[in-house]
Amino acid sequence: MDSLKEITAEIIKFSDDRDWSQFHNSKDLAVALSIESSELLELFLWKGNDDFNRDRLKEELADVFMYALLLAEKNQLDIKEIIFDKIKKNNEKYPVEKAKGTAKKYNEL
Ligand SMILES: [Mg+2]
Repeated sequence: MDSLKEITAEIIKFSDDRDWSQFHNSKDLAVALSIESSELLELFLWKGNDDFNRDRLKEELADVFMYALLLAEKNQLDIKEIIFDKIKKNNEKYPVEKAKGTAKKYNEL
Protein backbone atom coordinates (compact mmCIF):
# COMPACT_ATOMS: atom_id res chain seq x y z
CA MET A 1 0.00 0.00 0.00
CA ASP A 2 1.16 3.46 -0.83
CA SER A 3 2.61 4.98 2.36
CA LEU A 4 0.54 8.17 2.13
CA LYS A 5 -2.62 6.10 1.81
CA GLU A 6 -1.49 3.99 4.74
CA ILE A 7 -0.89 7.09 6.87
CA THR A 8 -4.24 8.58 5.83
CA ALA A 9 -6.04 5.33 6.67
CA GLU A 10 -4.49 5.37 10.15
CA ILE A 11 -5.62 8.97 10.74
CA ILE A 12 -9.14 8.13 9.55
CA LYS A 13 -9.25 5.05 11.79
CA PHE A 14 -8.29 7.22 14.78
CA SER A 15 -11.03 9.66 13.84
CA ASP A 16 -13.69 7.03 13.08
CA ASP A 17 -12.99 5.20 16.36
CA ARG A 18 -14.09 8.41 18.10
CA ASP A 19 -16.91 9.23 15.69
CA TRP A 20 -15.14 12.48 14.82
CA SER A 21 -15.34 12.18 11.04
CA GLN A 22 -18.79 13.78 11.21
CA PHE A 23 -17.00 17.06 12.07
CA HIS A 24 -14.49 16.83 9.24
CA ASN A 25 -16.01 18.96 6.49
CA SER A 26 -13.64 20.80 4.16
CA LYS A 27 -14.12 24.18 5.83
CA ASP A 28 -13.33 22.96 9.34
CA LEU A 29 -10.41 20.86 8.13
CA ALA A 30 -8.97 23.96 6.43
CA VAL A 31 -9.52 26.01 9.60
CA ALA A 32 -7.87 23.31 11.72
CA LEU A 33 -4.94 23.16 9.30
CA SER A 34 -4.45 26.91 9.61
CA ILE A 35 -4.66 26.77 13.42
CA GLU A 36 -2.11 23.97 13.57
CA SER A 37 0.15 25.97 11.23
CA SER A 38 -0.11 28.85 13.69
CA GLU A 39 0.79 26.54 16.57
CA LEU A 40 3.84 25.55 14.53
CA LEU A 41 4.74 29.21 14.04
CA GLU A 42 4.33 29.90 17.73
CA LEU A 43 7.32 27.64 18.43
CA PHE A 44 9.51 30.22 16.69
CA LEU A 45 7.94 33.38 18.04
CA TRP A 46 10.40 35.77 19.70
CA LYS A 47 13.27 33.34 19.26
CA GLY A 48 16.34 32.99 17.08
CA ASN A 49 16.15 31.09 13.78
CA ASP A 50 17.29 27.76 15.21
CA ASP A 51 16.05 28.19 18.75
CA PHE A 52 13.02 25.91 18.98
CA ASN A 53 11.86 22.80 20.80
CA ARG A 54 12.42 19.87 18.42
CA ASP A 55 9.89 17.61 20.16
CA ARG A 56 7.21 20.28 19.87
CA LEU A 57 8.20 20.80 16.21
CA LYS A 58 7.53 17.09 15.56
CA GLU A 59 4.11 17.32 17.20
CA GLU A 60 2.94 20.47 15.42
CA LEU A 61 4.32 19.35 12.07
CA ALA A 62 2.45 16.05 12.50
CA ASP A 63 -0.76 17.98 13.23
CA VAL A 64 -0.29 20.04 10.06
CA PHE A 65 0.35 16.94 7.93
CA MET A 66 -2.63 15.11 9.42
CA TYR A 67 -5.12 17.88 8.64
CA ALA A 68 -3.61 18.36 5.16
CA LEU A 69 -3.99 14.64 4.46
CA LEU A 70 -7.58 14.62 5.77
CA LEU A 71 -8.48 17.64 3.64
CA ALA A 72 -7.01 15.98 0.55
CA GLU A 73 -8.83 12.73 1.32
CA LYS A 74 -12.11 14.55 1.91
CA ASN A 75 -11.84 16.02 -1.59
CA GLN A 76 -10.58 12.83 -3.28
CA LEU A 77 -7.29 14.50 -4.15
CA ASP A 78 -4.21 12.45 -5.00
CA ILE A 79 -1.35 13.94 -2.96
CA LYS A 80 1.38 12.90 -5.40
CA GLU A 81 -0.58 14.23 -8.36
CA ILE A 82 -1.39 17.63 -6.83
CA ILE A 83 2.17 18.16 -5.58
CA PHE A 84 3.73 17.16 -8.89
CA ASP A 85 1.26 19.42 -10.72
CA LYS A 86 2.21 22.32 -8.42
CA ILE A 87 5.94 21.70 -8.89
CA LYS A 88 5.33 21.83 -12.65
CA LYS A 89 3.53 25.17 -12.26
CA ASN A 90 6.29 26.47 -9.99
CA ASN A 91 8.88 25.44 -12.60
CA GLU A 92 7.05 27.61 -15.12
CA LYS A 93 6.71 30.54 -12.67
CA TYR A 94 10.30 30.26 -11.47
CA PRO A 95 12.53 29.27 -14.39
CA VAL A 96 15.98 28.30 -13.14
CA GLU A 97 17.74 30.89 -15.30
CA LYS A 98 15.74 33.68 -13.65
CA ALA A 99 15.11 32.36 -10.14
CA LYS A 100 18.38 30.70 -9.19
CA GLY A 101 19.89 32.22 -6.05
CA THR A 102 17.20 34.83 -5.49
CA ALA A 103 14.26 34.89 -3.08
CA LYS A 104 12.26 37.27 -5.28
CA LYS A 105 8.63 36.45 -6.02
CA TYR A 106 7.84 35.32 -9.57
CA ASN A 107 6.29 38.68 -10.49
CA GLU A 108 9.54 40.45 -9.54
CA LEU A 109 11.91 38.24 -11.54
MG1 LIG B 1 -1.14 21.26 17.53
